[in-house]
Amino acid sequence: MDKKYDISTRCVHSGETLDSHGAPHMPVYNSTTFGFATTAELLDVVEGRREGSLYTRYGLNPTIKSVEKKLASIEDGEAALLFSSGMAAEAALFFTHGLSGVVCIGNAYGGTLELLSDQLPQVGIPTFLLLGSEVDKLEATLAEKPGLVFFETPTNPTMEIFDIAAISKLCHAHGVLVAVDNTFASPVNQQVLALGADFAVHSATKYLGGHSDLTGGVLIGRQDLIAAVAPWRKNLGQMMAPEVAALLSRSLRTLPIRVERQNESASAVASAMAAHPKVRRVYYPGLDDFPGHDCAAAQMSGFGGMLTIEIEGSAQDATRVADALQLFIIAPSLGGPESLVTQPMTTTHHGLSPEQRSQRGINDSMIRLSIGMEAAADLIADLKQALGQI
Ligand code: PLP
Repeated sequence: MDKKYDISTRCVHSGETLDSHGAPHMPVYNSTTFGFATTAELLDVVEGRREGSLYTRYGLNPTIKSVEKKLASIEDGEAALLFSSGMAAEAALFFTHGLSGVVCIGNAYGGTLELLSDQLPQVGIPTFLLLGSEVDKLEATLAEKPGLVFFETPTNPTMEIFDIAAISKLCHAHGVLVAVDNTFASPVNQQVLALGADFAVHSATKYLGGHSDLTGGVLIGRQDLIAAVAPWRKNLGQMMAPEVAALLSRSLRTLPIRVERQNESASAVASAMAAHPKVRRVYYPGLDDFPGHDCAAAQMSGFGGMLTIEIEGSAQDATRVADALQLFIIAPSLGGPESLVTQPMTTTHHGLSPEQRSQRGINDSMIRLSIGMEAAADLIADLKQALGQI
């Protein structure tokens, strides 16, 4: 849909066509296969002369196509591919565009780090994991001729901020593609393609889905780059189910209002936590004194619903705080209506050794908060009562 429309408008209308019954949104086509009147018509679709539905695992399904169009529009990309999970999207991206090597900058979701450090090298894909403090080593690493540079910003769970435009410029000068995992920010807060990245990657399980009731992933970018990923998705069998795609589409229509609310509440919680004596440090890019705040303010239009607090105390104290919370649910994941709390060492970064965590600035006194749709005042009161127990 035309870029002249605001993202809220595109979230509602992009990818939708009134069907023959006048349905205002694309219904669920749960068919696994689609029929043709003649073999010639089937061959037109198989051989790409005409767009059409054919087989759901290939992504040639009206519900899947409609949601992909909506997602491409809201990330301002030419094309999008849906996947059964965020990890599926990352894996297909790495296999397609990262065969000669993948560089990851800074902290990332623990599963991403495991894929890069354990599985990809087993199939001969070289990977280079740079700490957030080692961005200055990026240029030297690009001399190794990787295919792809991948990073999150803000990162999980320390909220490091990386300059998307500057990194993209440097990588492009070396002929290397750039993918940004935009899961934490969402397209409402950060338009990574407009800033220069080649791909936006999402765990749609989080803000895009937004209700803790679907698992999915998406990859968005230039038509030719995305088209190259499609055969991998098809033959690795990574397709999202149409029922899930329809649920995702339903959620995308309310994405901006959900994210705006979560931005506001997270900002209020971050300020309250920054002033609390039992909190040593708050990691939230919206705080003026947070390292990376200026860069975040330049490239984000909102600071997101995620924050991490470091308790003034031990790992056990952090566990006691998490256990004492009444509104926050102890669970991994993020982006849903219910606020969640997790200690990175117990979930998202459990797969890393204590040394690896400490090298990445992830300590055991940290608790990560995903701010939901509850009233900010209730969440702050809950955090204060829990902190009062240590
Ligand atoms: N990227 C980020 C930032 C995540 O937090 C996660 C999961 O927590 C993923 C990717 C992987 O997504 P999924 O769980 O949908 O495979």
